[in-house]
Amino acid sequence: MESVDAVVIGAGVVGLAVARALALAGREVLVLEAEEAFGTQTSSRNSEVIHAGIYYPQGSLKATLCVRGKSMLYAYCAARGVAHRRVGKVLVAADAAEVPVLEGYARKAAANGVPLEPLSAAEVARLEPAVRAVAGLWSESTGIVDSHGLMLALLGDAQAAGATLVTRTPLERARAVDGGFELHAGGAEPIALRCRLLVNAAGLSAQRVARAIEGLDPVHVPPAHYAKGHYFTLAGRTPFSHLVYPMPDHAGLGIHVTLDLAGRCKFGPDVTRWPAEPDYAFEEGLEARFYEAIRRYWPELPDGALQPGYTGVRPKVSGPADPAGDFMIQGASVHGLAGLVNLFGIESPGLTSSLAIAQEVAARLGLDATAAEC
Ligand SMILES: Cc1cc2nc3c(=O)[nH]c(=O)nc-3n(C[C@H](O)[C@H](O)[C@H](O)COP(=O)(O)OP(=O)(O)OC[C@H]3O[C@@H](n4cnc5c(N)ncnc54)[C@H](O)[C@@H]3O)c2cc1C
Repeated sequence: MESVDAVVIGAGVVGLAVARALALAGREVLVLEAEEAFGTQTSSRNSEVIHAGIYYPQGSLKATLCVRGKSMLYAYCAARGVAHRRVGKVLVAADAAEVPVLEGYARKAAANGVPLEPLSAAEVARLEPAVRAVAGLWSESTGIVDSHGLMLALLGDAQAAGATLVTRTPLERARAVDGGFELHAGGAEPIALRCRLLVNAAGLSAQRVARAIEGLDPVHVPPAHYAKGHYFTLAGRTPFSHLVYPMPDHAGLGIHVTLDLAGRCKFGPDVTRWPAEPDYAFEEGLEARFYEAIRRYWPELPDGALQPGYTGVRPKVSGPADPAGDFMIQGASVHGLAGLVNLFGIESPGLTSSLAIAQEVAARLGLDATAAEC
């Protein structure tokens, strides 16, 4: 049976960042990807926002890795020529009842070390003339990034350091053996191999992959929940120059305005359904709810301006009635299997945090990830 130092399951932005970090730490790395190309799942079905780190509880992995990952990502994009823009974001309170919520986010952001500036209604109107709000917050460090370009750069770095990506090769089962793991992957050309280090970065399938590892106590595999989000795109010219976010709802950040690097505008994602299995179908009959939510802060949204866009599915470890879950990065100190790291619940801000998550994974494997810093 062939053997490599390290296998990463999943070639999304997180798996590719991990592969890069392990390869730059001198390990021989193989990335197994089930689909025919890298980054076709959550990593290409998101808002492409570089989040500032506002919403997450102080000390949580989401807060610390988002803030650290944001700095790493800006530096990496600049160094590697990945398209991005520090476009900034306006958080808005649409009425007086939302002002205390807005103030709560200002306190949370301050605790996370994220700089925000309070805005009066007039200052919001100066920044975004189309937006109606009674108060706002300005987040200068929020930006947008070309997620495909980012993944290409990560893959390029990993490959330059000797890593190999194998597509159409889903991991089917694994077994903890002396000093490592024995893996079986399917696809057109099934493979069996051994590795010392194994990283499960399978996103929406991370729980399924973890349950297929013989020797891992299933008590360490959290429940998997899938929260689907829809985006509508704006037909015609956007009136916005920055990202605009209303107050968050329970499981998402509210139906907000995002801009892509070409200046196109989209709205979403909502949190409408929690399917038993991930599915990307665009549900019928959501327009009215989107128009209503957007007109709370953009009253002039014209009838007929919203076009169905795309969907994404959040890999969550908490259900609709639970408090929001944190990222889970489980190494041997949690499950007792040396050389294994499982990543669960890598929903937003996972794109922003990807380089910091990779550094954390390397640390839990006892590797020096300084070469992966920019
Ligand atoms: C609607 C939405 C909006 C978001 N917006 C933002 C945002 O603006 N900013 C931000 O920072 N984050 C955002 N996120 C979060 C971000 O997109 C994710 O955290 C990130 O893309 C997760 O990357 P990943 O590599 O863990 O997962 P994925 O991209 O899903 O990659 C996992 C890979 O594993 C592969 N795989 C699965 N099973 C197997 C197997 N058995 N064998 C081999 N391969 C397998 C899959 O095919 C896939 O390619 C958003 C997420 C959603 C859903």
